[in-house]
Amino acid sequence: MKFETQLIHCGNSLDQATGAVSIPIYRASTFKQTELGGNPKWEYGRTGNPTRLALEKLISDLEGGVAGFAFASGSAAIHTVFSLFSAGDHLVIGSDVYGGTFRLVDKVLKRFGLEFTVVNMQDLAAVRAAIKDKTVGIYFETPTNPLLELADIKQIAQIGKEHGVKIIVDNTFATPYNQQPLRLGADIVVHSATKYLGGHSDVVAGLAVTNDAIVAEDLAFLQNSLGNVLGPDDSWLVQRGIKTLGARMRLHHENTAAIVDFLTQHPKVKRVLYPGLKTSPNYWLATTQMTGFGAMVSFELVSGADVKAFIESLEVITLAESLGGIESLIEVPAIMTHGSIPRKIRLTNGISDELIRLSVGIEAKEDLLADLKQALAHS
Ligand code: PLP
Repeated sequence: MKFETQLIHCGNSLDQATGAVSIPIYRASTFKQTELGGNPKWEYGRTGNPTRLALEKLISDLEGGVAGFAFASGSAAIHTVFSLFSAGDHLVIGSDVYGGTFRLVDKVLKRFGLEFTVVNMQDLAAVRAAIKDKTVGIYFETPTNPLLELADIKQIAQIGKEHGVKIIVDNTFATPYNQQPLRLGADIVVHSATKYLGGHSDVVAGLAVTNDAIVAEDLAFLQNSLGNVLGPDDSWLVQRGIKTLGARMRLHHENTAAIVDFLTQHPKVKRVLYPGLKTSPNYWLATTQMTGFGAMVSFELVSGADVKAFIESLEVITLAESLGGIESLIEVPAIMTHGSIPRKIRLTNGISDELIRLSVGIEAKEDLLADLKQALAHS
């Protein structure tokens, strides 16, 4: 099946009991058991729920895994995956990750004895050099948030295999529509399904998928033990969102190409970060490991331009955190999504105070271009 058909028909897309073409929302906390001490398929809502399972099977199929897991947020998915490891274990983590992921690592997981080395994942020699005897995992995003840098999943997976280290990729920005890390050698994929998979800015959710049967068993244990599961209503919403991912991504891509073209030519724009730009250092890798360049664009205005006036003059594009929805969203990472990263580290990692991140939505591209044009005139 082509990917767009898989989006609609994979997983448990039909209700087994009635044939309903939309999986019902099984809003039950517990399930009747027919014998005492038996082995029922469904027992308790935290352990398993048919609506949640439909979503878990769908994302597992789409990413090419053996099992998927749905969580109450992307952060909950990431926390659960890190919980596979124990005090004293060491992980290599990409230098450009979502601020909340950095905060989880820096302020929470370190207190539980996990050790981390932060590395620029584009520097494969540095990745190799960071691996120690007790290294158990390499965690990174590609494309990264908000610099849109790419990391070579195949090459990093090769380093991981050589050292028996698990490779974990946050695939939120690309989505399985544009990139499937497990097929490139990764062991675990995580998603903030709050973004493109949900797609309508109406649900907070997270997903994890693995192609390793032992990791799958451990994740099932942790999902049940930590209990940060996605509820049935939200599982249904994410599944419905995924069904239109292909149609949405085609529009996201079309609009983004036009906006990138506009921004790169505008005199008030100093630089544009987008892996689909032929001049981008990431372009070659983007064409080899991704099937599309995505709809996230970051840019900086020329010095002296008024970022605040620009953003506050926008009328269609909305100033808000998050990304990946049908509506275009804009933000300044330094004071919003990445505000939890200390300024010095942020600047070292390349996230300037002036950097602007745009999540291109699926509105008519003429309206988005006109909005950017008039707001830039106010900057
Ligand atoms: N990963 C990436 C790349 C993100 O951008 C985010 C949130 O913005 C997360 C993970 C965390 O996801 P959530 O907000 O659903 O907890």
